[in-house]
Amino acid sequence: MAPTHARLVLSLSPFGLPACPRRHRRCSNIKEARFGVEYFRGFDLVINALDNVAARKHVNRLCLATGRPLVEAGTAGYLGQAYPIRKGVTECFECTPPPAQKTFPICTIRR
Ligand SMILES: [Zn+2]
Repeated sequence: MAPTHARLVLSLSPFGLPACPRRHRRCSNIKEARFGVEYFRGFDLVINALDNVAARKHVNRLCLATGRPLVEAGTAGYLGQAYPIRKGVTECFECTPPPAQKTFPICTIRR
């Protein structure tokens, strides 16, 4: 998340984001134990914009466990997408694997 976007998100959140040990307010690992079921119960809605599948699956499972609706968002090159996930209403993040990509946007290829 770009610093400008991080500041915007922080300004919208009544909770703010927890500070990481390095004191970067926008730097934390969602898989830390402190971001467990009780943490997720503190939200009415979760918006996911993480950069790796393992973390996305982790948040998906916590939202399912707590019954919190999840908006899963991501990008591929210049294209973005977002879709809602609700326990018992929609498929979850792990129900349907994404189709195999045959081409890759140049900005997602590491050099
Ligand atoms: Zn599922």
